[in-house]
Amino acid sequence: MSFYDDGINVLKSLDQYRNQCWNKEQRVILQQNIQTIHDQLDLSSLIKDGGLTGEKLSIFLSTYLENTTRLHHPGYMAHQVAAPNSNGALGSLIDGLTNNPMAIYEMGPAASAIEFFMINYLLHKIDWEPMPTNSDQRLSFKHSGGVMTNGGSTANLTALLTARNYLDNTIREKGNPNDLVILAPETSHYSVVKAAGIIGIGEINVIGLETDYRGRVITDKIENAYNRAIELNKRIVALVANGCSTGTGIYDPIDEIADFCHEKNIWFHVDGAHGGGALFSNKYRPLLNGLKKADSFIIDAHKMLRTPICLRSN
Ligand SMILES: *Cc1c(COP(=O)(O)O)cnc(C)c1O
Repeated sequence: MSFYDDGINVLKSLDQYRNQCWNKEQRVILQQNIQTIHDQLDLSSLIKDGGLTGEKLSIFLSTYLENTTRLHHPGYMAHQVAAPNSNGALGSLIDGLTNNPMAIYEMGPAASAIEFFMINYLLHKIDWEPMPTNSDQRLSFKHSGGVMTNGGSTANLTALLTARNYLDNTIREKGNPNDLVILAPETSHYSVVKAAGIIGIGEINVIGLETDYRGRVITDKIENAYNRAIELNKRIVALVANGCSTGTGIYDPIDEIADFCHEKNIWFHVDGAHGGGALFSNKYRPLLNGLKKADSFIIDAHKMLRTPICLRSN
């Protein structure tokens, strides 16, 4: 079987799969245990013999699709990863075949150009100064910048790492001192606390911000957490707010928090992994008011922006 024939068969199966989902012909999810799926997919012989093509590929794919969580099913309500725009999935196919990373420009000029201009588009949406597009203009502190990661967890990690190195540019070389803290509400995504652990600040050094009964940060109470950090002789790496919180969909008062951070000279990070899509909506854009005053922001296109999740990290 050729790549072309296999490809046509795969596309036909996927198209049929999508229709079956829409028509609720199967349940959203078949919860089978991992060993059963391993056996059904015949993974042991595949690893031994390879050759995933032709009839073998068709059988493999139908078993694989049986064991997916059907995001296109109208009854799907669980996690927030979106049913992707179908042509977006063709983008994943093109990316898979060409396999051009963006770490070094010459390794993927077209992919890098898309990354560069997508990020500039986002910067423009936030009303931050985009990166210069003219090669004789140099990048300076007046410009903003950005990078595509494989998801929000890595993006939060990247932003907090940047905040830490901005606070003290000797840490990268010498390692972490023990006086660093991050301020974040308990409603923040678990990747924030995890990032604090990974970058060596320590998970216990994330100081909670008080929230109201809906889990929204109470601006007037931020000073309490701030004072606690100062009394303990800690340096604040960043204050993190939700735009919006994963569990509740509620946006923290970004504009007011930004003013507090400016007054105290604290790096303000907004986690828009889930709710950053409001940037693209006239109706919901006001939920992110004040975002321009933040120092860093992340957004997950595979949630509200309906792109396929990219499993490859660049
Ligand atoms: C989903 C989510 C993340 C993590 O994003 P991944 O793409 O799953 O790594 C971080 N923050 C918030 C608010 C999220 O909803």
